[in-house]
This record gives sequence, C-alpha cells and structure tokens, in this order.
Amino acid sequence: CWARIRARLRDEVGEVEYRTWLRQMTLQGIDGDEAVILLPTRFLRDWVNSHYGDRLRALWQAEDANVRRVEIRVAQAATAEPVMADGAGMASSRPEPSGLAESLAPAPRPPAEPRTSDPRSDWVVPLEARFTFDTFVVGKPNEFAHACARRVAERPASPGFNPLFLYGGVGLGKTHLMHAIAWAIREGETARTVAYMSAEKFMYRFIAALRSQSTMEFKETLRAVDVLMIDDLQFLIGKDNTQEEFFHTFNALVDQGKQIVVSSDKPPSDLAGIEDRLRTRLGCGMVADLHATTYELRLSILQAKAAAAQVLVPPKVMELLATKITSNVRELEGALNRLVAHANLFGRPITVDSAHEVLHDVLRAHEKRVSIEEIQRKVAEHYNLRLTDMVSARRARNVARPRQVAMYLAKQLTQRSLPEIGRRFGNRDHTTVMHAVSRVSELIAQDASFAEDVALLRKMLET
Ligand code: ADP
Ligand code: MG
Repeated sequence: CWARIRARLRDEVGEVEYRTWLRQMTLQGIDGDEAVILLPTRFLRDWVNSHYGDRLRALWQAEDANVRRVEIRVAQAATAEPVMADGAGMASSRPEPSGLAESLAPAPRPPAEPRTSDPRSDWVVPLEARFTFDTFVVGKPNEFAHACARRVAERPASPGFNPLFLYGGVGLGKTHLMHAIAWAIREGETARTVAYMSAEKFMYRFIAALRSQSTMEFKETLRAVDVLMIDDLQFLIGKDNTQEEFFHTFNALVDQGKQIVVSSDKPPSDLAGIEDRLRTRLGCGMVADLHATTYELRLSILQAKAAAAQVLVPPKVMELLATKITSNVRELEGALNRLVAHANLFGRPITVDSAHEVLHDVLRAHEKRVSIEEIQRKVAEHYNLRLTDMVSARRARNVARPRQVAMYLAKQLTQRSLPEIGRRFGNRDHTTVMHAVSRVSELIAQDASFAEDVALLRKMLET
C-alpha cells in the first residue's frame, strides 16, 4: 500500500521533484487512523508537510479509507521538535510551532541540553528551542513589545504589566516572544512554574476535563502555576464556556499575584465575541502591539538568521528578500530556508539569479502587494481629493464615495482584515468597511463607467 502511494506520488510530481524531496520518506507505521511518515531532517519534514501534505493524505485515503490523518515526523529527535497537536493532522500545511508547542514544567529547568522533554507526557511538551530573547531581533516595530516581554520575564506580575497582552498580525513574533518569556523565567533564579498553551489547546483540555469529569483537577493544575500564557486568544471568540473558564482561571491567578501573558491577532478592544468583562480585564494591564515589519528590521532579521545558519548570503540577495517579502517574518524566514536548502542540495552558492529562480513563486506573489496608504493616495489623486479626506469624518458624497472605493480596493488588494482597514480609514468600524465593500460591488454591477473607473484604479495600483 505504501509502495503504491509512493509510486503514484512519483508519477504525479515527476522524477526530479520526487528525488529531491520525497525519496527519503519512510513509513514508520500506522497508528489507529494515522499514518506516520519519517524524514531525516526538520527542513525536509516542513517542506514535505507544506507542499505534499494534502496530496499524501488524499492518496492514503484512496488506498485505505481507515487512514484519516498523515503525520510527518523527523526520524531522530536530534533537536527539540515542536510536537504536533493531536488532531492537527496534515490540515495545517504550514508548520507552525506556535499553537502546537506547549509546556507546563517546574522551574528551574534541568541544565540538560539539548532542550527536549518527553512528548508523550500530556503536559510537558517542549517550548520551541529557537524562540528565545537571544534570537529575537529587535527593531522599531517590535521594540515596545520586546521591552514589555523582557520586563515580565525579569519581574513577573509587577504592577502595570499584568496581564501582558501582546497582539499583532500573523508571523510577527508573538509566539516567539511568549516562548522567550517562558524560557527566561524557567532559567531564572526563583523556582517558578510556567504554563504555556494555545487557546485552542486550552479549550480541548477543558472539554476533555468536562468529559472525564475531572474539571477540579484541571482547575487546580492551572491555578497552581506562577505564570500562565495563552497564545492566540482570538480562538476563544464565540466559545462561551471556555471563555468563562478562562475568565475564572484568569481572576484566580491575578488575585494570587500570578502573571498572565496573552497573545492575540487583535487588540482587546477589537475582540468582538469575547465577553465584555473578560475584554476589560485583558486590557487593564499592559497592551503591546507588534507592528508590521520595516525594511530595516527585515534586513536585520535576515542577517541574524543567515549568521545563525552559518550560510553565506550575498547582501544583494538579502536586499531582494527584504524588499519583496514584506508580509511577515515567517514568510521571510521560509524564503531564506528555501534558498539555503536549495544551495545545500545542489552544492551551489546563493546568488541573486538563483534567488529569483528558487523563489519565483514567492516573489511574484509579493509583487502585487499594495499598501493601504498607497491605495488612499492613488484614489485621492484620482478623484482630486486630499489624502486627509480618506480618513476624515466628512460625509459629503463626493468624498464619501471615493473613500468607499479606497476601502473596497484595500479589501481586494491587501491582506488586511476589515477591522484593520477600518482603523486605517480614520478609525472606522469594520461594519463601515463591510458596507463600503458591498456598496461598491453593487455599483460596479450597475454602473459601467463607475466599474471602468475602479478597474482603472486597480490596474494602476497593481502594476
Ligand atoms: P506569530 O506568533 O506572531 O504568528 P511567530 O512568533 O510564530 O509569529 O513568528 C513567526 C516566525 O518568525 C518564527 O519563526 C519567529 O522566530 C520569526 N520571528 C518573528 N519575529 C522575529 C524577530 N523579531 N526576530 C527573529 N525572528 C522572528
Ligand atoms: Mg503564533
């Protein structure tokens, strides 16, 4: 069965690709409804996971309907590996340690290196070894969040810093900072217990406890920690029971003078669907955001990562990546990893040409990325308005309509969320943006010359 799956994959992707990425796969075995596949390096694992994971799963299912999940692991645990959360399966195509690593272990951490712990144990799962303060590159966009994180790591539960609420877009370093705090506290002088988990995991644990009627134990375990960290809190939106439980845990811990650290993709005020009293409490400590990266920060991060990996990356290549891959650090890191892997596999140095060749898909995807500011500028120019009209409260039709067009284009051409777009348009509500988007769509359908106008603007922005 495994031989057939491999043969089919080989047919599908071709010999070269198969040899490059997939040849070294071995089947460890089938465990219940999960097939476990091994690869020799973490890099290969991540690569195969993100590029062939879905295909592997589909092929397995075609061969054996009992196999519902495919997990890809690194053959020998030479480095501390983030552990796949149960049930994550192959659906998470991008390997993301964030929600998946967690830990609850007494401090100080035993001096044993490398940082590993027993992944079979329910609570003790390693933190990502790379995510420390040492490896976190500080720049303007993240210096405040970083300083707050440092402060909490040095003096947990100091007034004004509890809870610490970190927020920012995907891949900007929230999980990294949280793990860094956890490592630092564990390595500190005083024995402290740090619990880190994703909000998702918190919910699963809670539900499991409810099922097995062990909620008391669950509560006691959580309330015994000194520092509780919950990552990606936005996951709790709409999950009322879990929120309630978290709220009680939160209050109990804060009352006992314990530190809470929470991360989210939005500020507390934007967490619609999180109960008011919880939102209020979340926002009453220190709220720190991680801003989108700047060119300078991207360049510093690339330099740091290349140095850590001990590879020679020409400055021109770093400039190319820092210019083009602006979305987030994770993608930037992914691009660098691909370059390094390519160079290693083929034994060739990294050059600007090879970068273009290896990363053509990524670079192209980023070419069309437009900023909200650019959209506002172009739209204002086009309709003969001032840039400030885009963010002003003026409601006159000749101003309001272009503003709606700009919001529409921002939704179409950027990755920004509705609340974020609203904020950038003079702190408007996300429903205003939603309304603008649907209004402009309607007008495009009804009015040919308006449609042409918008198409023209779009074209100017995209090229
Ligand atoms: P988030 O949790 O905000 O989605 P992560 O913390 O998982 O993002 O960061 C994504 C990747 O980018 C990680 O590999 C992380 O190490 C890296 N990263 C983010 N910010 C920085 C930084 N300032 N310095 C070094 N690496 C960073
Ligand atoms: Mg994260």
